[in-house]
Amino acid sequence: MNPISFKSVFVGMWSHVLNTNEKKHHHCIPCGYTYDPVEGDPDYGIPPGTAFEDLPDSWVCPICGASKEMFEPDHESHNPAHGGAG
Ligand SMILES: [Zn+2]
Repeated sequence: MNPISFKSVFVGMWSHVLNTNEKKHHHCIPCGYTYDPVEGDPDYGIPPGTAFEDLPDSWVCPICGASKEMFEPDHESHNPAHGGAG
């Protein structure tokens, strides 16, 4: 007979995390501007939370004026949100 060992399990972790759709960032190839779907583009009337795909076809890069075709999705890599020196 083996004694039953009780294990204390912490259930304080976030087991119920809201699985929100991660919107991909797109960056402008010519100038390097990165479109953040979380912030949108208020200057152009794009409300926050607008995915790049949901942008109007008339939308252009606020920096250099390139069309959406000049944008490409960011590569999947673990990069800090802020940290681009040089
Ligand atoms: Zn641009």
